[in-house]
Amino acid sequence: MDSPFDLIVVGAGSGGLAAAKRAAAHGARVAIVEGDRVGGTCVIRGCVPKKLLVYGAQARHQLEDAPAYGLHCDSVQSDVGQLFQNVRAEVDRLNELHLGFLEKAGVQLVSGWGRFIDSHRIGVSSERGGAILSEISAANLLIAVGGRPVRPDIPGIEHTWVSDDMFGLTALPAEVVVVGAGFIACEFACILQGLGVAVTQVVRGPRLLRGFDSELAAAVLEGMNDKGIEVLFERNLTRVEGKQGQLTAVLSDDRQLPCGGVLMATGRRPWLQDLDLPAAGVAVEKDRVVVDDDSRTSVPHIFAVGDVTDRVNLTPVAIDEGRAYADSLFADRHRQVNHDLVASAVFSDPELASVGLSEDDAVARHGKESISIHRARFRSMTRALPKSGPKCLLKLVLEKSTDRVLGCHMVGEHAAEIIQMAAIAVGMGATKADFDRTMALHPSVSEEFVTM
Ligand code: NDP
Repeated sequence: MDSPFDLIVVGAGSGGLAAAKRAAAHGARVAIVEGDRVGGTCVIRGCVPKKLLVYGAQARHQLEDAPAYGLHCDSVQSDVGQLFQNVRAEVDRLNELHLGFLEKAGVQLVSGWGRFIDSHRIGVSSERGGAILSEISAANLLIAVGGRPVRPDIPGIEHTWVSDDMFGLTALPAEVVVVGAGFIACEFACILQGLGVAVTQVVRGPRLLRGFDSELAAAVLEGMNDKGIEVLFERNLTRVEGKQGQLTAVLSDDRQLPCGGVLMATGRRPWLQDLDLPAAGVAVEKDRVVVDDDSRTSVPHIFAVGDVTDRVNLTPVAIDEGRAYADSLFADRHRQVNHDLVASAVFSDPELASVGLSEDDAVARHGKESISIHRARFRSMTRALPKSGPKCLLKLVLEKSTDRVLGCHMVGEHAAEIIQMAAIAVGMGATKADFDRTMALHPSVSEEFVTM
């Protein structure tokens, strides 16, 4: 094919950037098309700015604990606008860094929104779905356009925020309603509460964090309730009335919640709109690009990685999928991504992290008689002097016949850091005896995993 490029990547988020840089390192001539800022959801409006806000909320909670350590901070000034501004400045820095990485790697950035003209050509426009201003072609194409938040179609929905909007705020209202029970809902409910907002969370089902171990989700709920977050289960938001800043969220039980903002954290979907996948013949099922274990779509030279494939929608997974694609195609090092035993965390307060099977999933897969559970629930030493705060929960799910650890879960401080390391052992097939043989590191929270 007569083209200056061997590969066109559409979308410069975590998966697309990883694939583009790795393919270029293997000698491929790569173009990456991006209409928004380089960095994608994770860097620009997801994991990174969210985690910085989590730290901001934690700093305030630490001030609440300070008197227990003899520190009196009565004259502390609060400036939430400053926090948001600092977060945006850090995102700008990272965005620049990623632009520099692309340049250093020799990847050509094509600024604009890409869409398929046919299976080898990408048209680029200045607006998503707008007129095509230029086109590029390549023998290989990678779709890495990610996902975007979805909100239900109810009256007044235009007054609500999605997670993307949160990072543009300059001030926070006194009261916010958060709708949803997943990652984003729980994380933002805790961030907002930590930053001084009165939060009501509205959940359509009977529990938080479906998909995670139910005992852990209950421990998160207990911690959130202790901090003053009101969680209303088995209710829907039916409409939003008023104007921006002075809203009323009306629920299915007719309860009316006056608030200054409503955050819809009701899930994300692959962002397929305006890509014109039919022009390339790429198959889509249930709003996602269908791929095989090599991330290959129904068109042999077109691949897709990350959230657009709706497999495991986490940044490190997208990065690994992108790199595996580049290694397989441009370095002749065939590799598939292992989507099993992916550790994940919810940066709520208290934090939850998990690897492997929940108790419910283990029972469903192996039967109740075939598994055993070990748990420790206690107030950690950091809570000893403040005499308040949530209890930790550490939990191991074991297969009785082999003693193998099927799941390792935690709610409590630094849960993500701890479970990341435990994931190595679980991935290696560690047994409870292996955990027990490991000497405890004292005093620590995670020592309970080897002494329980
Ligand atoms: P989730 O899929 O985690 O949660 C969506 C929530 O919205 C669920 O509680 C769901 O309820 C609820 N919901 C869906 N539709 C409606 C509706 N019409 N009315 C009321 N509630 C509704 O999505 P998130 O948006 O929180 O996160 C998207 C993805 O982003 C996650 O799956 C995760 O992969 C990733 N992510 C990861 C993070 C991390 O690693 N820490 C942080 C943030 C996001 P129900 O349970 O009943 O279906």
